[in-house]
Amino acid sequence: MELLAKLEQHLQGLHDQSLIRKRRSVETPCAPRMTVDGRELLAFCSNDYLGLAAHPRLAEAMHQGVQLYGTGSGAAHLVSGHSRAHTLLEQRLAEFMAPHLVAAQALYFCTGYMANLAVITGLAVGDKNTEIFSESLNHASLIDGGRLSRTSLRVYPHADLAALREMLETSTATNKIVVTDAVFSMDGDLAPLPELLALCEQHQAWLVVDDAHGFGTLGENGRGALEHFGLRSPYLVYVGTLGKAAGVGGAFVAAHRTVIETLIQRARPYIFTTAAPPALAHALQASLDIISGDEGRERRAHLRALVAQLRDGLRFERWHLMPSQTAIQPIVIGENEETMRLAAALYEQGIWVGGIRPPTVPAGTARLRVTLSAGHSHDDVARLVETLNKLERN
Ligand SMILES: *Cc1c(COP(=O)(O)O)cnc(C)c1O
Repeated sequence: MELLAKLEQHLQGLHDQSLIRKRRSVETPCAPRMTVDGRELLAFCSNDYLGLAAHPRLAEAMHQGVQLYGTGSGAAHLVSGHSRAHTLLEQRLAEFMAPHLVAAQALYFCTGYMANLAVITGLAVGDKNTEIFSESLNHASLIDGGRLSRTSLRVYPHADLAALREMLETSTATNKIVVTDAVFSMDGDLAPLPELLALCEQHQAWLVVDDAHGFGTLGENGRGALEHFGLRSPYLVYVGTLGKAAGVGGAFVAAHRTVIETLIQRARPYIFTTAAPPALAHALQASLDIISGDEGRERRAHLRALVAQLRDGLRFERWHLMPSQTAIQPIVIGENEETMRLAAALYEQGIWVGGIRPPTVPAGTARLRVTLSAGHSHDDVARLVETLNKLERN
């Protein structure tokens, strides 16, 4: 079949550039120690930053959620799939994020990918003269949301406030939307949110903040990047994901109730999909209890200590650690092949770290993406540090 031959040729091209990706089938829950092919690995590659993905209290809440609500929602939210569990979760999320927003309301989504598509297309819906200003290192879902909104889209260079200011000043759009990751997924650094918000308020622009990696991990109470920077504004549209630090799945948008009502009425990625199982929303309420309580605070403090231990311990000459203070600690290697060879060498020694290549990161900056979790011990990190220091010298 000629159609298949074309696909095979394309795949061979990926293979030739060391760009073929492989999935590994994990036999145990997401935790620092995972079993793959019967072998136990010490993993530094999940986004389970607080170590909640296999927490007994959440597992229990999930069981209880299934008993209360069954397994499936059965329909989209606007049909009959909107369960009391979703309502309660949304109320909790709105209260949790209220210190940072004005007239806060929250909306739960099946995934962060869909939440981002919904926010960007939803904010664009009321005005044909919309322009989107997107940070260059934004997550793929934000880029796709921009494309789907079929409006003018301009990309500003990473953390370049002067470039964004210039774009906002020269824009003739009557509906401006600035979109940024709060914590950059592949670099671990933070966006300059206070300065971005000041620019947005000055130019009457929305500021969409995707805090997939900050929600639960940043801020005294785990409210994420907005709490970390102490921000509050009606211009903020906040996206938090719930499959990373929160340990379950899905995502939410928190914003002024008028924004949320607009998404409910008009955002196709919200409307035309079956609601997530209510049991997830039920388990997520237990997750919020942990995040916002003493245990969450302890887990965040432990995570910060692990980050410091890693950064203090690594001694590189050729590779470099990126300037990140978050749980994402990428080590830039450069070439794809070298990066994947190192990832394989670590794997051989029982340590699982993801190798990240283009197009996820720019060409020539392939990296090992080390992620830490509050589930790790200081001994785990010591083992990683020692192994990496040795590998670099070889
Ligand atoms: C993971 C991630 C998403 C997508 O969230 P999912 O719930 O996994 O779909 C969106 N934005 C960023 C920055 C992410 O890292």
